Amino acid sequence: MTQEQAAYRTNQSANLFERAQKVIPGGVNSPVRAFRGVGGTPLFFNHGEGAWITDEDGNRYIDYIGAWGPLILGHRDPGVIAALEAQLKNGLGYGASTEGEVVIAETICKLVPSIEKVRLVTSGTEATMSAIRVARGYTKRDKVLKFEGCYHGHVDGLLVKAGSGALTLGEPDSSGVPKSYTDQTFVLPYNDTDALKALFQKHGDEIACAIVEPVAGNMNLVPPRPEFLATLREVCTQSGSVLIFDEVMTGFRTALGGAQSIYGITPDLTTLGKVIGGGLPIGAFGGKAEIMDCIAPLGSVYQAGTLAGSPLGVAAGQAMLDAIQKPGFYESLTERTEQLTRGLQAAADKAGIPFTTNQVGGMFGCFFTEQKDIHRFDQVMSCDAERFKQYFHLMLQNQVNLAPSAFEAGFVSAAHGDNEIELTIAAAHKAFAAL
Ligand SMILES: *Cc1c(COP(=O)(O)O)cnc(C)c1O
Repeated sequence: MTQEQAAYRTNQSANLFERAQKVIPGGVNSPVRAFRGVGGTPLFFNHGEGAWITDEDGNRYIDYIGAWGPLILGHRDPGVIAALEAQLKNGLGYGASTEGEVVIAETICKLVPSIEKVRLVTSGTEATMSAIRVARGYTKRDKVLKFEGCYHGHVDGLLVKAGSGALTLGEPDSSGVPKSYTDQTFVLPYNDTDALKALFQKHGDEIACAIVEPVAGNMNLVPPRPEFLATLREVCTQSGSVLIFDEVMTGFRTALGGAQSIYGITPDLTTLGKVIGGGLPIGAFGGKAEIMDCIAPLGSVYQAGTLAGSPLGVAAGQAMLDAIQKPGFYESLTERTEQLTRGLQAAADKAGIPFTTNQVGGMFGCFFTEQKDIHRFDQVMSCDAERFKQYFHLMLQNQVNLAPSAFEAGFVSAAHGDNEIELTIAAAHKAFAAL
């Protein structure tokens, strides 16, 4: 070990976690932060700058969480900070409409052409919950289709156990969710077009909507098979079901127009979050005007939010959306991410560790497995979880902050330069050698 690593301490984080557990359930405000997937004591952070974050013990790390996706420009991007400072001078909110809301809605509609009208909310969960409600109101149907391994926030009816197989109705995945809610949810395997056709043949006219992550980023990273999204579009159109792309993670992360622009499939509704808030709490859902106009005050589907369209969130989000429209932004983000995955693969190969990666735009996934071409949930589940845990902690000790779970995607930001990528690959060489 180098001297720097020998000095690695996490005492302050451990103390804070101790205190936190007394007053916050599990010591965390969102479960995956608790390190249950990797063991050990979760870190507490107090500063971020560019690609780097600093924990309470003063350890610095290259960050691949990016606040779970939003920080595509890195921490404390000067443009986002300036926009927030300017808004702070004018107030935090007025409980009424602002010009900023109009401008950000115009921007979203321009960048994602399938969105003709959009409404802002305060989280991704709220976006998916509201999109499903409007889809149900529009179709006057109740059933929802989701896919194994896709996460759409902690919406009651979507917390459905994966693995129940084609044509089976869902079982709740969380206690506190009435069985009668998840009885309204069909669950199918991701990327399985035959199961999709079979379900729609039998139940198509009951299905209000299908909701899908067009690139699955909550079971590690699993890209869609091209025929999967195309078939989904086809069966939804045939049966009059609303197709919802949940782009809370992939929107403005995989490409400027979201995953829908990469695969050339037009959903009826899209949900957004993460990147559009520039790091502040925000979400959005939008799509065809005909469907969106079912929402109050125009229509009978109720949806509302006291802090929806908060001027601070809108200011940060607009600064972010302005920055990512710079020519070449996604080309260079994608190239950076590829540089990283190539380097990680080479490091694993050199150490003889069975390993493969997936990558779309600024998202990547790493899998400890002999298999190549990971495109199914069961393949992800069969990866070596123990190896991931060891790798995670070794990377942390070598100044690389990865998501503390084998089922999360990694995020590269525009602030990750050659130096950060090289340091990360060097850390991976050490980690793989130690496995
Ligand atoms: C993060 C995420 C959500 C939930 O967003 P929150 O802001 O955490 O409520 C929904 N869908 C997808 C695809 C996500 O990645």
